[in-house]
Amino acid sequence: MKVTEHIAQAKSPLFSIELLPPLKGQNISSIFETMDLLMEYSPAFVDVTYHREEYVYREVSGGLLEKRTVRKRPGTVGICAALKHRYSIDPVPHIICGGFNREETENALIDLNFLGIDNVLLLRGDAIKSEGTFKPEPGGHAYAVDLLKQVVQMNDGVYLDPDLKNAKNTDFCIGVAGYPEKHFEAPNMKSDLRYLKQKVDAGASYIVTQMFYDNAAFFSFRERCISEGITVPIIPGIKPLANRAQLNSIPKHFYVNMPEELVDLAERCKTDAEIQELGIEWCIKQCKELIEGGVPVLHFYTMGKAISTSRIAKAVF
Ligand code: FAD
Repeated sequence: MKVTEHIAQAKSPLFSIELLPPLKGQNISSIFETMDLLMEYSPAFVDVTYHREEYVYREVSGGLLEKRTVRKRPGTVGICAALKHRYSIDPVPHIICGGFNREETENALIDLNFLGIDNVLLLRGDAIKSEGTFKPEPGGHAYAVDLLKQVVQMNDGVYLDPDLKNAKNTDFCIGVAGYPEKHFEAPNMKSDLRYLKQKVDAGASYIVTQMFYDNAAFFSFRERCISEGITVPIIPGIKPLANRAQLNSIPKHFYVNMPEELVDLAERCKTDAEIQELGIEWCIKQCKELIEGGVPVLHFYTMGKAISTSRIAKAVF
């Protein structure tokens, strides 16, 4: 079922989660453990992230360095298929522009369609870690909106090969990313919202936001979206603070602000266990206020920390 259908049928706000594929060399059991813990709260859908290739350097004889390309967390499509089969749940694979040309994108979408997957979250992806700026693959897409247009074309039965006869259309429900504190590359919020609207006008049916810790940022973003004419559901992304290191790593990696009150409280904590407790309490407060504010879904970035999500879900749903 499509994410938008889940939202349309819901009588109260829905619970959904995002999972990361395990590191290469691990098996799928960590995913199943997370799911087994969180199924109690009946997630409406489960996002599975996509992780592009990275360059690693290995010292070889004579002090030379060998450059290798590795994907540390493969398995997005396989995990989606496994979740659908094992839990009868709707998986939402993330599809990115980075590392894919149009043909590879089309083939990935055909796999998802054959697996009976109804939803995709379409993203540009970030630059390869050792490169400063995002570079599209030759023959690939530079922005999420361009990838989105390819999926919309497939939904209309138009594939890359113009000679295909009687091609069957796909019917993906398309989600895209939004940033309550703006995307880090955007010169300002106005510009970022203009491009967000472009994605919605091109066929996105819903928006999932980057994590945030101050609900005021979400509510003001939602207001501005509405005033720009963006009327699709906007789903807030929630990530509970889990340890002291995240006070710096979350702003560094996700370009989000930590409210003064949260940081003051965290600095008074003596252990990571206390910080995790604070993170749970903070998110429970955030979630209750977001529900009062009329959000359709609360979407949790679990990142291997299912316990916090489960405690919050227990208090909120
Ligand atoms: P876009 O919408 O393409 O925007 C990128 C930037 O370009 C923005 O600054 C925007 O304002 C600007 N822009 C957009 N369109 C145009 C245009 N036509 N012309 C000029 N400028 C334009 N990354 C992963 O690698 N894998 C994942 O699984 C993943 N999941 C995510 C899930 C969520 C909910 C979120 C919020 C992010 C996720 N990301 C993921 C990170 C995401 O890939 C990065 O934030 C990336 O830098 C931007 O992706 P986007 O789809 O928002 O890009």
